[in-house]
Amino acid sequence: MITKIAVSSGKGGTGKTFIATNIAIIMAKKGRKVRYLDCDVEAPNGHLFLKPQIDEEEDVMILSPVGVDEEKCINCGDCAEACHYNAIAVIKEKVLFFRELCHACGACQVVCPTDAVIEGERKIGVLRLGKSGLINFHYALLETAEGGMSPRLVKKVKSYIGEGINILDSSPGTSCPVVETVKDVDLCVLVTDPTPFSINDLKLAVAMSREVGQEPVVIVNRAEYGNDNLKEYLSSEKLEIVGEIPDDRQIAEVYSRGDIVVEKLPQYKELFEKIAHKIMEASKEKRFVRKKKREEIDKVKKKIGKPKQYETPAQKNLKNLW
Ligand code: SF4
Ligand code: SF4
Repeated sequence: MITKIAVSSGKGGTGKTFIATNIAIIMAKKGRKVRYLDCDVEAPNGHLFLKPQIDEEEDVMILSPVGVDEEKCINCGDCAEACHYNAIAVIKEKVLFFRELCHACGACQVVCPTDAVIEGERKIGVLRLGKSGLINFHYALLETAEGGMSPRLVKKVKSYIGEGINILDSSPGTSCPVVETVKDVDLCVLVTDPTPFSINDLKLAVAMSREVGQEPVVIVNRAEYGNDNLKEYLSSEKLEIVGEIPDDRQIAEVYSRGDIVVEKLPQYKELFEKIAHKIMEASKEKRFVRKKKREEIDKVKKKIGKPKQYETPAQKNLKNLW
């Protein structure tokens, strides 16, 4: 059986990797087959804690436009018009490609009437595969100036999802690589702390998660509540807390040395075992609540049909003027 658990967060620095690595260790120690997939391809750091032995390394290549066959090109400019990323400009009968802006979407090749766009291989990152004890470890490093290719590299890391429990350490935020990580998992775990910044970014992460059809659960790190803001928000959104980690200086010290808390501080083993258990239970529930709602909305939309186009008074006046 394949179980996919994404550990994400709205804000960076809330303890996402700390939770993901400790949960992975606990699950592996319970005899589960665990894979750790670091999908934070722009700044992976799971390997600093799980210290895997890397057995394989491969360059991740994609095909993307590298130039134009000048004999075939008729300078029509269709490619530049089709490119949503402004990666092509046609200036004075010359087609210029700006590689750093190219997202390799292929639109320019589709629209080119003379098949003049030349494709070539492009390295977007490096993938490393190894083992940390019994845990299969996979992570990737994005090439410099290849930010637009993050989702592709995440996809590549995710292609190693396999039998057992797959822990996907996501990048923080709500951008494309996070969506790519979270979109088809069995459970999305959002890590937060009770600070105003984290609560604000948690709200964005919850919205993103629901938008892609995932009803997330929450872990509160450094759970010292100065006020009720976080709890009020979680209860108003009916979000389940699957774990609360106390604000303990010892944890911060162990983490800052790159060590695993459940190994160095045995008093926290039981807490992480409980969190791991709750995560596994929640992953079986398949919490795709909002997706169902969206499907219902789509059904209603289909029934109603295409809405009528109404003209605003300003549009009517303009028409009358002509
Ligand atoms: S592949 Fe897409 S992003 Fe790249 S140049 Fe062509 S249209 Fe633009
Ligand atoms: S669409 Fe093709 S033919 Fe037209 S300018 Fe671009 S490369 Fe040249």
